[in-house]
Amino acid sequence: MASSTITIPANGAATLPTPGQVVFVGAGPGDVELLTLKALRALQNADVVIHDRLVGADVLALANPSAQLINVGKQGFGPSTDQEHINALIVRHARASLRVARIKGGDCALFARLDEEIDALDAADLPYTIIPGITAASSAVASIGQALTKRGRNASVRLLTGHDTKGFADQDWQALARPGEVAAIYMGLKAARFIQGRMIMHGANPDTPVTIVENASRPDERVIVTSLANLPDALQTLTSGAPALTLFGLAPRDTAISRHTTQSPLLSQELA
Ligand code: SAH
Repeated sequence: MASSTITIPANGAATLPTPGQVVFVGAGPGDVELLTLKALRALQNADVVIHDRLVGADVLALANPSAQLINVGKQGFGPSTDQEHINALIVRHARASLRVARIKGGDCALFARLDEEIDALDAADLPYTIIPGITAASSAVASIGQALTKRGRNASVRLLTGHDTKGFADQDWQALARPGEVAAIYMGLKAARFIQGRMIMHGANPDTPVTIVENASRPDERVIVTSLANLPDALQTLTSGAPALTLFGLAPRDTAISRHTTQSPLLSQELA
């Protein structure tokens, strides 16, 4: 029967942090309402919340008021808390029999070094659970009224990182350059010219649509519509420091453009 109140089923308790246990939590792309109920419960029940830069203040405000908040944010090639230090921090708090929520932007299992933190817990023989979150790609395509896959266009979608620990990440450029391919590129701004060059070198059509969604799901979200050929110009219009997802092979649906797009003067001509 329909009800206006939300009842969280009792099995949600399976992922509540218990003393000495770590819960990895995906915080979603930013909009608090995109948090899962499990994520909310984990935040409310944690003694310590260890969070990344991408987890916003309004999400953290939902944590237990007595919880200790620890920011271990990293930013692209910029200053970061060493991963070893983060691992040690998580282990130390769990060993102290605290309920630890390790919360990361988007989905905690995507470009979030989850394995390394789990390895550290395994080595210390400490238990953990994982609460998935909505990843930036899901939020970004929703903003432009598109789907990540479409029958007859793309039967698969790639989630790529622009760079890894060694620098710009290499990809299967030949496969990506085929018509109809769709890729969501995370951390793709610094690598954008490199990606553009590789794609064109492997035969991608320079007119392939590219859409950059900045601050997806947040009040300051912006959608920048461009093409593979014009990607470098589009980069100049981005807000410094804002998280941005590059959707390769997707343009907004028309209705979505009028509702959401902030077009730079440079680019609006292309759309005319
Ligand atoms: N675990 C995260 C990804 C972390 S990697 C997830 O699942 O979404 C960090 C990159 O994610 C950023 O450089 C950016 O490319 C992307 N990103 C994360 N949140 C975003 C947001 N709200 N809007 C746009 N891009 C975002």
